[in-house]
Amino acid sequence: MNPVLPDELVMLQRSVRDFVEQRLVPLGKQIEEQDEIPRSVIDAMAEMGLFGLGFAEEVGGQGFGKLGYCVAVEQLARTNAALWNVIGGSAGLCGTAIDLGGPDDLRRRYLPDLLSARKIGAYGLSEPGAGSDAGSLKTAARRDGDAYVIDGAKTFITNAPIADVFVVFANADREKGSKGISAFVVERATGGLEVGPNDEKMGLHGSTTAQVFFHEMRVPATRRIGDEGEGFAIALRTLDYGRMGLAAHAVGAAQRLLEACVDHAKTRTQFGRPISANQAIQWMLADAATEIHAARLMVYDAASRADRGERVTDRAAMAKLFATELLGRVADAAVQIHGGMGYMKELWIERAYRDARIYRIYEGTSEIQRLVISTGLLANS
Ligand SMILES: Cc1cc2nc3c(=O)[nH]c(=O)nc-3n(C[C@H](O)[C@H](O)[C@H](O)COP(=O)(O)OP(=O)(O)OC[C@H]3O[C@@H](n4cnc5c(N)ncnc54)[C@H](O)[C@@H]3O)c2cc1C
Repeated sequence: MNPVLPDELVMLQRSVRDFVEQRLVPLGKQIEEQDEIPRSVIDAMAEMGLFGLGFAEEVGGQGFGKLGYCVAVEQLARTNAALWNVIGGSAGLCGTAIDLGGPDDLRRRYLPDLLSARKIGAYGLSEPGAGSDAGSLKTAARRDGDAYVIDGAKTFITNAPIADVFVVFANADREKGSKGISAFVVERATGGLEVGPNDEKMGLHGSTTAQVFFHEMRVPATRRIGDEGEGFAIALRTLDYGRMGLAAHAVGAAQRLLEACVDHAKTRTQFGRPISANQAIQWMLADAATEIHAARLMVYDAASRADRGERVTDRAAMAKLFATELLGRVADAAVQIHGGMGYMKELWIERAYRDARIYRIYEGTSEIQRLVISTGLLANS
């Protein structure tokens, strides 16, 4: 018995791991080289229920809660980061914003499709001039009768080239600052919406990212998520959940790298003995194992609290900060332990090293996680 997880989540963990090892891992090189995830792979992940894991059954989810979601995401991290990134951008961010903010007719209209991947979603918060300081976004929403007219641009939007549905944050009252921001569900076919070319990235190959432009785009007022001015609060609550998922993914990626390091250290012989016989190597492995264990417990703790209805802003930020920084260290150690082979494209370690770099940047950089944690600390003490 697993001391931390209930039996049903241990079963989920096993079935996702089997699926990942059997169906996704063999496609890793192809996805990396072609920089594309075949639609059939997205469909297979959807059939496994991976898009709806953390959502309630009444909106089309699997009902495993945030803990179940994190447990599964950890296993998904055993292959290319891009695969989960599609789920994270679609169900994880776009779907969660709709779920958290409602209203019910938008939840009913969009969630079943997003959680089964019949539609792919994207989450448009960041702008060229508003990244870490997302509350200063400039995209404007002007009320015009029963609609809003939206003008502006979003940058680095995951899934934008393949998305059917966008959650777009725009300010309807600049004088109110971030309290003037509202959130809208926008369908791709909406007039005035334009998606730029797919960005070329260091890693995450297969996951698409692009700019999105809005030119006098009319969106019915009924597509507003939550009240006018509530958009930024919805964005931040969505990111609490997103950060837990990212932390879980970092834990799984680090775990997979550690396993590869242990195997390599035991089989690679230099100076007439396995390199694992050297204390310098043993300590790298020990540090990685210890930190991964700590990060996993932080993720499970944050997710369990979220499932109990607690607000987890601080815990999610701590888990994301700790887990993603640790992944950076483990990925670096993995290249080091694999020596020259760790630097070669022939081995997936090189890809994992590049993929690992993004975790400390998106959904709030490490510096911003520290800002979130210290702001909570100073306000509550
Ligand atoms: C591959 C990829 C996918 C993405 N997907 C999405 C998406 O789907 N949707 C979306 O909305 N956004 C997305 N983003 C945007 C991402 O969230 C931002 O890149 C991130 O929040 C950082 O913003 P920035 O790039 O503008 O950096 P900046 O905000 O310009 O930061 C630059 C540096 O300054 C530091 N800094 C800034 N302010 C402070 C401060 N107060 N104290 C200390 N240091 C500070 C930062 O930590 C960073 O090191 C994505 C980005 C990438 C690269």
